[in-house]
Amino acid sequence: MDRRHFFQSTSLVTTGALVGCALPGVAQQQAKTPFTVPAITLPIVGSDEVFPVRRIYCIGRNYRAHSIEMGSNPDREPPFFFQKPTDAIQYVKTGTVADHPYPTLTKNYHYEAELVAALGRGGRNIPVAQALDYVYGYSLGLDMTRRDLQRAMGDEKKPWEIGKSFDKSAPIGAIHKLAQTGHFTQGDIWLKVNGQTKQKANLSQMIWSVAEQISRLSDAFELFPGDIIYSGTPENVGPVVRGDVIEMHIDGLPNLSVKIV
Ligand code: MN
Repeated sequence: MDRRHFFQSTSLVTTGALVGCALPGVAQQQAKTPFTVPAITLPIVGSDEVFPVRRIYCIGRNYRAHSIEMGSNPDREPPFFFQKPTDAIQYVKTGTVADHPYPTLTKNYHYEAELVAALGRGGRNIPVAQALDYVYGYSLGLDMTRRDLQRAMGDEKKPWEIGKSFDKSAPIGAIHKLAQTGHFTQGDIWLKVNGQTKQKANLSQMIWSVAEQISRLSDAFELFPGDIIYSGTPENVGPVVRGDVIEMHIDGLPNLSVKIV
């Protein structure tokens, strides 16, 4: 992990009083703080700049076969979203195998391989036809999940945050600018554990496209530059244990690998 890239302390962090009245995206008056809170950024491939991550949105059950394996009827469900905290990000450098800690509290820790869209513009009520204009670039990531906790909370009709939104639950690669990759409407997405294929699908099988996700999200939340969207995982999610190596691939992006430790 390259700490320089996402543990930079910046002037964005101010005192509580100032934060309370500040508008996102509006320059804030500098003030002394009793401690620093790291700004979360990701490298941008081919650039000296880094991508500041504002929020992590994730869509649920966005591939038909995965929706069925999770117990839903994909023909009747509108898209739904959840968030992970921004500091759940674990940046994974291309060509390395990052150590990923097996989290506490779970006995059923699952991988979910996903395309990630990164926004460079914000807005509300964005039409689908214009939604891709808001994309800055793309990456690939893992929506790591404490499945037993997610399921238990769902069964009890409680928030499933503890199953999804924990520390380091969002391994992700660097951001590739749109000009380097184009948009991802098709192409293979796969995930291997210890060299054995576990997930394999095509991005064209998404129920809700990236454009539709941006549009729907912008109806519920005002989006801002720096927001990133995990676009859902295909079927055949499954467990990993300590010592397993996960490798994931999306056509047009370098592979991402982590070792569970
Ligand atoms: Mn997911």
